[in-house]
Amino acid sequence: MLTAYNYMRRGAKEVKIGRVVIGGKNPIAVQSMTNTDTLDRLATFSQVRALEDAGCDIVRITAPTPESAATFSYLKEMGIKVPLVADIHFDYRIALECVSAGVDKIRINPGNIGDEGRVKRVVDACSKNNVPIRIGVNGGSLEKTILEKYGSPTAEALAESAMYHASLLEKYDFDNIVLSVKSSNVTAMAQANEILANRCNYPLHIGVTEAGGGKMGLIKGAVGIGGTLLRGIGDTIRVSLTANPVDEVEAAHEILAALDMSPRRRMNIVSCPTCGRTKIDLIALAKEFEEAAAKENLLGKDIKVALMGCVVNGPGEAREADIGIAGGNGEAVLIKKGEIIEKISEGDIIARLIAEIKKETL
Ligand code: SF4
Repeated sequence: MLTAYNYMRRGAKEVKIGRVVIGGKNPIAVQSMTNTDTLDRLATFSQVRALEDAGCDIVRITAPTPESAATFSYLKEMGIKVPLVADIHFDYRIALECVSAGVDKIRINPGNIGDEGRVKRVVDACSKNNVPIRIGVNGGSLEKTILEKYGSPTAEALAESAMYHASLLEKYDFDNIVLSVKSSNVTAMAQANEILANRCNYPLHIGVTEAGGGKMGLIKGAVGIGGTLLRGIGDTIRVSLTANPVDEVEAAHEILAALDMSPRRRMNIVSCPTCGRTKIDLIALAKEFEEAAAKENLLGKDIKVALMGCVVNGPGEAREADIGIAGGNGEAVLIKKGEIIEKISEGDIIARLIAEIKKETL
């Protein structure tokens, strides 16, 4: 679907990460990161599979030691198709090992790996193997000089740091680059991405780092990522949560769905907040409906479903939906494209809705 968003998108340089291309008008790729011990191949394998099944487009795995590289080869040998990113800090030798092991992207900040000879070796290996490099700048790990210049990890400081690291690669004509500037401060993260979007054409990986867990983490991620995407900025996202990585992927798809940008989660459920007029248990019904739709694999269907609490305002509010119900006393009316088509008793609502949706989306 061509959304206003696509029309407005910044059109960053395209970068290929294994089977996934980001940038340009390509779909926003969802990322997450494993939290298993990388050397525990089996645990890492099952988590990568779980992430892939949940709709993760790119999986990042920490590579703290040269031995970690063997896990990447193992995952490839085991048939893992989702692109894998090796997350490396400081040690250029690990980067070289991981590139040889067949990773699809590395995350390393060239300013942290020592002299230029080392940077050049990493650049040469990545160029030869078509492996992009993601530069990842966080509020907590800024260079001393930049921190002193700005006094704190401001948006400008984050952007300057990212551009500095990129310049170290550009020296060798390497531009297969993805940038990320993350902060636990939602405003700083959003502004830093805006600065980068104006200053360069590299695709941007966006996210709010150390966002926390539960509702707070979700809200910070949704506001920071959603707000940035709405400005046309951002090519791949990670919703960082103190939670199972699979939850991050689900949250990312929910954010994209709310913006009409998810190729996976297309069903748009609108339901009223309930009020004194509500005569059915709409809160429970909305939850049950979403669970039933997920179970029947209907969440990917491009359909708008309205769940309204009353027949006074419900039909009017549901007019824009493809299908919906408006609750009455112990019953509901079924509405299709704004027309009431039948009455259903409360206990049959979910089954009727699911049957109608299946019919509509065949
Ligand atoms: S649709 Fe009806 S029940 Fe729901 S909030 Fe509006 S008036 Fe209240």
